[in-house]
Amino acid sequence: MIDEHGATADAQPVLHAIGRLPGIDGHLPDRPTWACAAPDCPDPWPCPHARERITAAANGDRVDLSITMAQVLNVAVSDLVHVPGDHDLFRRMLAWTR
Ligand SMILES: [Zn+2]
Repeated sequence: MIDEHGATADAQPVLHAIGRLPGIDGHLPDRPTWACAAPDCPDPWPCPHARERITAAANGDRVDLSITMAQVLNVAVSDLVHVPGDHDLFRRMLAWTR
């Protein structure tokens, strides 16, 4: 059954997988704002550190990287629809993977 929460629930494993990446060191999304949760990191997530770790995990497979970040985008949209501001989610979550 697909409901309004189905897509988000299905996308959760991607965040768990990112949380287990070697060297991610807490550079994970602080939901629902999607700031970086690492204490000294000023950047919105995915911050440069997170992008580097996620890219390394894709091992050169740009399609895999794009799929991963499309799943992340799905979760981010569900959260940020309730957070005021211009989040430019396509650029933030997907454009950098190309
Ligand atoms: Zn960070």
